Amino acid sequence: MELKTDTSIDAMYAAGQVVGRALTAVRDAADVGVSLLELDEVAHQVLRDAGARSPFLGYHPSFAPTPFPSVICASVNDAIVHGIPDGHRLRDGDLVSIDCGAELDGWVGDSAISFVVGEPRAEDLRLVETAERALAAGIGAAVPGNRIGDIANAIGSVCRSAGYGIPDGFGGHGVGRRMHEDPPVPNEGRPGRGLRLRHGMVLAIEPMLIGSGADGYHAAPDGWTLRTNDGSRAAHTEHTVAITDTGPRILTAR
Ligand code: MG
Ligand code: MG
Repeated sequence: MELKTDTSIDAMYAAGQVVGRALTAVRDAADVGVSLLELDEVAHQVLRDAGARSPFLGYHPSFAPTPFPSVICASVNDAIVHGIPDGHRLRDGDLVSIDCGAELDGWVGDSAISFVVGEPRAEDLRLVETAERALAAGIGAAVPGNRIGDIANAIGSVCRSAGYGIPDGFGGHGVGRRMHEDPPVPNEGRPGRGLRLRHGMVLAIEPMLIGSGADGYHAAPDGWTLRTNDGSRAAHTEHTVAITDTGPRILTAR
């Protein structure tokens, strides 16, 4: 994988701040009765105002049948990730995961948040709080000398010890001039294994948790949205993080 210079990491921080502002704006706008398309427009306006491009819009990986049509992924309740914003109006108690990216001056930031709209259920708050704790644990392990497996193990240990499932096959990744670079950063793994972490690596770390404790998921008919097999709710959190000799630097901090 490509190591970034400190100057490049500063440029990635600028891109990451646009993502952070977009997610904050979406979260502030999200309320009972607001549609997912309206949230997409909120994020799009933040990117436009910043002169940033969306790396999501038109993105067409090999697994997807169509280019992604939106600036955010909006995944509600049993949707884990990759939900396409549509006319669905948020209902009281919906658990929403929003993923957003921005490309500024050729550098990409990638981040996601989960939150509940309206009156939350206690089990959803616990799921979201655990997703945030798993992300913090993964970031804490993102230090020089550790390995990718240490990040994966830190995330997976928090999720499993809380009784949650982890969808295998999707997870974090390197970030840079492209949204998805090497190496993959799994959400579960063995400590001490994999690529050794060095100053200048930039990773998207993104735990995905399934509330029931089961791991099963499937793609919805749209070919993009991943849903839990048992209909239980899911949470997703993500930051773009630079590994530095002075510790992890969260480029998408809000
Ligand atoms: Mg993302
Ligand atoms: Mg990502």
